[in-house]
Amino acid sequence: MPRLFLGGNHKCTGTIGSLKTLLAQFAEKSIPEDIDFVVAPSMMHLPLAVEEAKAPIQISAQNCYFKKGAFTGETNIEQIKDIGLEWVILGHSERRHVFGESHELIATKTKTAIEAGLKVIYCVGETLEEKEAGKTEEVCAGQLEAIGKVLTEEQWKSVVIAVEPVYAIGTGVAATPESAQSTNAFCRKWVSEHVSAAIAKDISIAYGGSVKPSNAEELSRQPDIDGFLVGGASTSPAFLEIMEILV
Ligand code: PEP
Repeated sequence: MPRLFLGGNHKCTGTIGSLKTLLAQFAEKSIPEDIDFVVAPSMMHLPLAVEEAKAPIQISAQNCYFKKGAFTGETNIEQIKDIGLEWVILGHSERRHVFGESHELIATKTKTAIEAGLKVIYCVGETLEEKEAGKTEEVCAGQLEAIGKVLTEEQWKSVVIAVEPVYAIGTGVAATPESAQSTNAFCRKWVSEHVSAAIAKDISIAYGGSVKPSNAEELSRQPDIDGFLVGGASTSPAFLEIMEILV
């Protein structure tokens, strides 16, 4: 059975004060042990988050680079592990579309991160144009294939897939539950056919894109939605409301 997953991606937002307040609010709530409750603040705030977060809250990086050395502005996997993190988000649509990260780069980062012992929240999803052209499955298959080419079956156990239609991210308009279910189910079928049925049965496949308390319930009822990756609503107590709906 897939494990429930709830990730909060703070993107390039937040301050020391806002993160401390948020983690203190989370600490007042009892978070069940049977969900991966993962908070991804900005790189700048990761050490603070590690210090302030109370178990079972887990902290994730939003990105990493696969090598150390002369790569100004980057953070390498060893550094992420050095501060005690176990998670990293890779392939987010903002990395793909704003920063132009290629399938190959994201796949190399994914492989290297997993080899180093990290768990990867691997994002896939189509743009509105691609959806309207009927290419949703083709696009997601291409993004899954990129890591499929480099990961062993065993390494897939360290992957959570976050299906995030680009048109739904940060727009306030989530995919319909039917559309989200259909893409998540397609991703599970892809994993079954290209990795193994056993991995497909157990892999957590989350949905992301304008999730909020008002739409979380219907989305969470879909059989192939095992949780959420949340952006905007993860920086407020709404994130806890989403968790309560999910568990
Ligand atoms: C995200 O950044 O992964 C995301 C899904 O953002 P939002 O919830 O704000 O759409």
